[in-house]
Amino acid sequence: MRKITFNFKNLVVCLFLVLSLFLSAQETTFVPQKYTPTEPGCVLPVGEFEGLVSVPRALETEAKMKAGATPCATFVVNYTGFTPEAQAAFQFAVDIWANSIDSPVPINVNATFSSLDPGVLGSAGPATFLTSSASGSQPNIFYPAALWEKLEGADRGQFGGTNDINANFSSDTNWYYGTDANPPSDQIDFVTVVLHELGHGLGFTGFADLTESFPDDIGAVRETNNNIPAIYDTFTENGSGSAILSFPDPSAALGTELVSNDLYINAPTSVTQFGQGGTLPQIYAPATFNGGSSIYHWNTPSFPIENINSLMRHQVGAGSANHNPGPITLGLFQDMGWSICSGALSVEDITVSNVSISPNPFRSSISINLSNGFNNDYEIGLFDINGRLIFENKKTIENGTIFIANLDQLEDAIYFLKVTNETTGTSIVKKVIKN
Ligand SMILES: [Zn+2]
Repeated sequence: MRKITFNFKNLVVCLFLVLSLFLSAQETTFVPQKYTPTEPGCVLPVGEFEGLVSVPRALETEAKMKAGATPCATFVVNYTGFTPEAQAAFQFAVDIWANSIDSPVPINVNATFSSLDPGVLGSAGPATFLTSSASGSQPNIFYPAALWEKLEGADRGQFGGTNDINANFSSDTNWYYGTDANPPSDQIDFVTVVLHELGHGLGFTGFADLTESFPDDIGAVRETNNNIPAIYDTFTENGSGSAILSFPDPSAALGTELVSNDLYINAPTSVTQFGQGGTLPQIYAPATFNGGSSIYHWNTPSFPIENINSLMRHQVGAGSANHNPGPITLGLFQDMGWSICSGALSVEDITVSNVSISPNPFRSSISINLSNGFNNDYEIGLFDINGRLIFENKKTIENGTIFIANLDQLEDAIYFLKVTNETTGTSIVKKVIKN
């Protein structure tokens, strides 16, 4: 009898311990939801010839690449079928992204060079999407694998898989493999197309789809199995300011929105970088829905080929090159959760290219040195990380320097300083830190 009591007590203690361990494990272990797409986010067709156009790398990116400086992110590319010259141009595009975004976790890319459908230059997308519980992430939102790992600060190995981006490129295209952003009129710039496709793989994508139905086509934005949207679509809204995620999903009303030619990105840093007085940058939502093109590109008429933001348009033609991810795209990436590599989020122009800001970090004052020799007036705007204007001021340059004082009261934080030349309208944005 005594023996039974002893065992019973032990059993109770044991059960209690197991239960406590189980409960504490329940509290601390977050298991993400996952979705692995079967189709690439973007299928990029060859576009018309729109002239010989060259948008070079951002000056800071060029300087860092030429100096062989340590990039802000590490990409590990698994190449299949590439010729040496295609691989070298691919690596050049990778290096531009590596100097544009910041991640502590290596970004793994599976890149294939092979025959694709006629007229298709390439296709790409995230290898998988996951929900995150990391600080800076939103609950119940799908993040592309590379961004998820950046937010979590860890590889997602424990949740399966190592590859972050799948990218395919046509081996039948008449490519220009030079890296000087000057393709001839009969060749497609390979660096531009790789840069474009990697942009999708890093997060310029989502699940918007239109299904033919009578009497109305049915639109959906959320991934159907999990009913979860991608982070990109949390910023999409129509011309009346209604968020795309506010519509019933799936529904005919949502279908109408997807082909309305009236959709925009309302992400604070992206809108600030767009710099059109709060006007929102428009995305591609043509009257005929085009899977692989619609929603996840900037609107072509809004961003002509020579525009610095033209990289993420829905097609690429011969003779044009853009080697800059573009400030509104990088702004959107920042709002999605990416950190932007210092210096990458800027609009350069030759008249304001040699801008230095000191000290940075600053405490009570900032000196902006513009060694362009012009005695023009400048508009100075300081924005917080959410794109809110903290102050603006008109200043006349004196001995090549603009001086801003009385900044002691500002909260310690990251800001964006925008310097606009009143005469030419050109502007530059620099990240500054108050501490
Ligand atoms: Zn695309």
